Amino acid sequence: MRRLLVATLATALTLAGTALPAQAAPTPGGAGLGDEYFPDYGNSGYDVSHYDVRLRYYPGEDRLTGTTTILAAATQDLSSFHLDFVLDVASVKVNNRAATFTREGDHELVVTPPRSVSQGQTMTVVVQYSGVPSNKVAAGYTAWTRTADGALAVGQPEIAWWWFPSNDHPSDKATFDVSVAVPDGVEVLSNGVMPRNPTQDILGWKRWSWRSLHPQATYLAFLAIGQYEITRDTTVDGQQVINAYSELLPQDFEDAAKASVERTAEVVEWESGVFGPYPFEAQGGVVGPPGALGFALETQTRSVYSSGFFRSGANMSVVVHENAHQWFGDSISVEQWKEIWLNEGFASYAEWLWSEEQGEGTTQEIFDYLYATQPADFWTIEPGDPGAADIFSNPVYDRGAMTLHQLRLTIGDEDFFELLRTWAAEHKDGDANTAEFIALAEKISGQQLDELFQAWLYTPSKPAIEGVSALARKAAPQAPKSWAKIQQTHELLHAH
Ligand SMILES: [Zn+2]
Repeated sequence: MRRLLVATLATALTLAGTALPAQAAPTPGGAGLGDEYFPDYGNSGYDVSHYDVRLRYYPGEDRLTGTTTILAAATQDLSSFHLDFVLDVASVKVNNRAATFTREGDHELVVTPPRSVSQGQTMTVVVQYSGVPSNKVAAGYTAWTRTADGALAVGQPEIAWWWFPSNDHPSDKATFDVSVAVPDGVEVLSNGVMPRNPTQDILGWKRWSWRSLHPQATYLAFLAIGQYEITRDTTVDGQQVINAYSELLPQDFEDAAKASVERTAEVVEWESGVFGPYPFEAQGGVVGPPGALGFALETQTRSVYSSGFFRSGANMSVVVHENAHQWFGDSISVEQWKEIWLNEGFASYAEWLWSEEQGEGTTQEIFDYLYATQPADFWTIEPGDPGAADIFSNPVYDRGAMTLHQLRLTIGDEDFFELLRTWAAEHKDGDANTAEFIALAEKISGQQLDELFQAWLYTPSKPAIEGVSALARKAAPQAPKSWAKIQQTHELLHAH
């Protein structure tokens, strides 16, 4: 749901009372949403409010079949529109009438309804499809992961293309119902709540249902299918906590994973104290099979972790990082992919705050250590505009977190934490950009902060700081206790 829609509708209402000029002919929707880094991601001309994704998955063949129903509203008079999708389409209906469709590029499905759709009109788009997602290459690879016992649909910035047709950009968020039928004995995890236990499907099959009640970016929708041990709990305020662990995990990985992910509710409660109320309806984490995934992702309400994070014992850093994203990245999505530091800098700073809380190194010590030890090339990437190839590079995370630390030193703890809570509250279930963050920081602190953000986010060199501490001046300072785990976590996170 883009905020743009509100403005468009308001304009339409205003115009309704005046004499309208002759209607212009409906025009095709575009193959992109104006993202500077990924110009063909998402599509223009409509705005999605809900996806109903109803699938069947055959683990032995990695075959997916099913139907996705999209509820959307046209934001212009549309003669045709694009969806982002790579599987084989059998039919498309728009408002109950068969539509024609063609392919463009590696992930565009162009749909032409028999009647044009007027601006503001709602449309129901039903796409029937099938395919073997692991065989489909787009953007040079397949983001769908086939595992020894099923599959993982987890990826950033691309993944939706391989399992449901969508307007694939974080600036068009929607609610989701996802259901997948699988053979008896196979588990299916996805986002949000389980409105019901798995139900009987055709003989020998069960259907699993999941529901996301808050608007969700398409890349934050996920599937984990395979043999999973599921743990269930309820928080004191009644939220479902559902965690899952691949049954293929070796015992030591499983123990370390549980000693971390089972603490999700505790982490969420602590983060709520720092960032304000938890924005979603459910919590949890999923740990995939060994070797299946090289990273973790903050999939909404229920993050997915590579087993690699738990190869040398419990890892709270990654649990803190992914759950901080529920506020920064999931509830507040990036308006454009270039704003990714608003996700990664904030989630990384949460790890620093946790370190301080645990007595394993203060935020200042971590800052000083990084400031003293990062190599020259670290400082050449601007976290606020890293370039498409570097959206998951080290500086986006670490220099992003350093930016927040410098901001905190400049405006003081009281204003800084008020800023984080106000930011989370004002953009809840929406999207945002850096200019808005700077404006809010200036409003709350009453200070002019352009220079600070210019130096830390938009300059390809090491910013000078006044009053450098002894630790930061040392050529080889001692790493804070928490650093090894944070660094190990980030090395894996950069892999996606
Ligand atoms: Zn992250």
